Amino acid sequence: MKKLAFINTKNRYRYIPISYERFVSRFIAIGRAISVVIIAGGFSHISFSQAQDPTLDLAKLKDAYPQQIVGSEGNNLIWRDGERMVLQYSAIDRPLNQVLKAPLLGDMFRFHYPKRAAATVPQMLHDPGRIRYESFFTKMYGDCRRGGVRTRKVAWLPAYQGGHVNITTTNDVDQALERVMAELSTLPREVMKYLVPQAGGYNCREIAGTNRLSAHSFGISIDINIKFANYWKWDAPNFLWKNSVPIEIVSIFEKHGFIWGGRWHHYDTMHFEYRPELLR
Ligand SMILES: [Zn+2]
Repeated sequence: MKKLAFINTKNRYRYIPISYERFVSRFIAIGRAISVVIIAGGFSHISFSQAQDPTLDLAKLKDAYPQQIVGSEGNNLIWRDGERMVLQYSAIDRPLNQVLKAPLLGDMFRFHYPKRAAATVPQMLHDPGRIRYESFFTKMYGDCRRGGVRTRKVAWLPAYQGGHVNITTTNDVDQALERVMAELSTLPREVMKYLVPQAGGYNCREIAGTNRLSAHSFGISIDINIKFANYWKWDAPNFLWKNSVPIEIVSIFEKHGFIWGGRWHHYDTMHFEYRPELLR
């Protein structure tokens, strides 16, 4: 009789023949070895960037934030109050850590966000949504250091005593989260452990080790249960993507404008963030 192994594929546990398990382990080992060679070879800036298309990216921003952005002219975004913000891109070979520190507006579109895809290992240094042009977000949502962010408490899965999260009312993000809640509440009970207790929404803070504001500072982010989360910094320096969050949860958030940190090479699988411009 063939031996069977219990492994997790796409968040579903299945019994499969042991030889297949060995094959998968070998495949992962080869993949790791290749990644190490790429880093060792000094090509750590390699990324699978999207084409730089200001017309397309300006249109995505206008579609995603109709209450705030009224149009564009040339390479400029036009805000409701008449302010213009230029959309430019960093050179394609500029290293990711530098882009993260001081991005340009167009750099937010550097990576394609794979919405509605399976939860799989992201490409090397592929972090769609992790690049944020801070002036864009402080203008949109306010500067929390000056008390400028308007938030409201939204009930988090009340049937499961999930408490409340503070989320911004700008762009009706609070209402988008309520639609997420309505759909999440229809998932099977065994999924709720990933969602309750949640680990908070609005929080005026900088990203650890940087002077950049966290996406939680704008009231657009929520962290689900930390107990089942994976975060690259907990595993650094030799981090390798891993995830246990069921894709059903991710799909519901994406449907309502929230991206997931589990789609990043620098994974943060508890993190969801309202970024509809990346889901266009
Ligand atoms: Zn977070």
